[in-house]
Amino acid sequence: MKILVINAGSSSLKYQLIDMENESVLAKGGCERIGIAGGKLIHKAHGETYTFEQEMPNHTDAIALVLEKLVDGKVGVIKSMEEIDAVGHRVVASGEAFKKTTLVDDDVMVTMEEIAELAPLHNPAAILGVNACRKVMPGKKMALVFDTSFHATMPDYAYMYAIDFNDYQKYKVRKYGAHGTSHKFVSGEAAKYLKKDISELKIVTCHLGNGSSISAVKGGVCIDTSMGFTPLAGVPMGTRSGDIDVAAIDFLCAKKGMSIDEGLTYLNKKCGVLGISGVSSDFRDLEAAKKAGNDRARLALDMFAYDCKKYVGAYMAAMGGLDVIVFTAGIGENTPDVRAAVVGGLEAFGVKLDEKKNAFKNDGAIHDVSAEDSRVRILVIPTNEEIVIARETAALL
Ligand code: AMP
Repeated sequence: MKILVINAGSSSLKYQLIDMENESVLAKGGCERIGIAGGKLIHKAHGETYTFEQEMPNHTDAIALVLEKLVDGKVGVIKSMEEIDAVGHRVVASGEAFKKTTLVDDDVMVTMEEIAELAPLHNPAAILGVNACRKVMPGKKMALVFDTSFHATMPDYAYMYAIDFNDYQKYKVRKYGAHGTSHKFVSGEAAKYLKKDISELKIVTCHLGNGSSISAVKGGVCIDTSMGFTPLAGVPMGTRSGDIDVAAIDFLCAKKGMSIDEGLTYLNKKCGVLGISGVSSDFRDLEAAKKAGNDRARLALDMFAYDCKKYVGAYMAAMGGLDVIVFTAGIGENTPDVRAAVVGGLEAFGVKLDEKKNAFKNDGAIHDVSAEDSRVRILVIPTNEEIVIARETAALL
């Protein structure tokens, strides 16, 4: 069975064609600058990278171009579109409308339109991607795989905000979380790696990338997560503020003459470690700046690690214990100093890092970086959201 995984953004579209026999990636790539002059497709197959410069006025053109390359005699990996058994689409937000992976039909797409406002930066793009695929591949089975599904198991006392309950019921304002496919993948991989039944494990998964979220996974199900109604909540991120007293927003908007919309753009794009350091949203730049003596870069890194540590501690309490901490995503997989800072000082709770093991260079494999006598295993696991989307889609068929 072959599954095409699609992750559509507003002006970009990433894809992977996965052979589910052995979960191997036959081809992958991405379209850039859809609807903007200077369109480009980067396609990787047969160990080669091919670049095609071609205008793509809309997502339908982008999907058509991707399919053209997938079946191409030279750069392609399949003979015809018929070899694709189904398409799995990544969708950021499901609200309460969809609790699990869902097959696409007309009614489902009407609901998707209705909940698009929950993730205005992401969901409309996913709708464009689905509609484009339905146009170019009519009749092909398609699944929506939601980033929020893995968090649907949170108990009500964890996902509720303490607002007027009637407003929750009317507007569905509550915590939904994000990065669910990543948290699901790495918690599952952790159990496999440790040869343990996941139902017996209490795991904190730290997805630390440009966007960062931390989840409590007890017995294989998510019981809490750091992101909220939107991905703005939780720890400070590349450019997002993370948790902040909302009254401070009103104050800042008044002082800076910003509307609520502008205030939200400010919190999403100008804050986080970029805002604190004034250097960069990229942790490589921050580490270099800190080494060169930049104290604001030092402060940004300290704030990030401190908040991550607080979530680890909170989730240890929420789960009544802790067996495994997993680090994943760009920062989690590549930045030993951040991992060391997050788990440093937790020795009293059985969390002990092996500094030598922690200094490994990312090679795409799973690494156990805990000390021999650490009761809690500390694992670094490369994430793979696409494989979860492909597995979910295949399972639905
Ligand atoms: P992601 O959103 O998962 O792609 O993660 C992106 C972030 O990971 C970047 O902004 C960097 O801060 C960080 N990152 C990625 N690769 C490295 C690396 N090799 N070393 C240090 N940080 C990295």
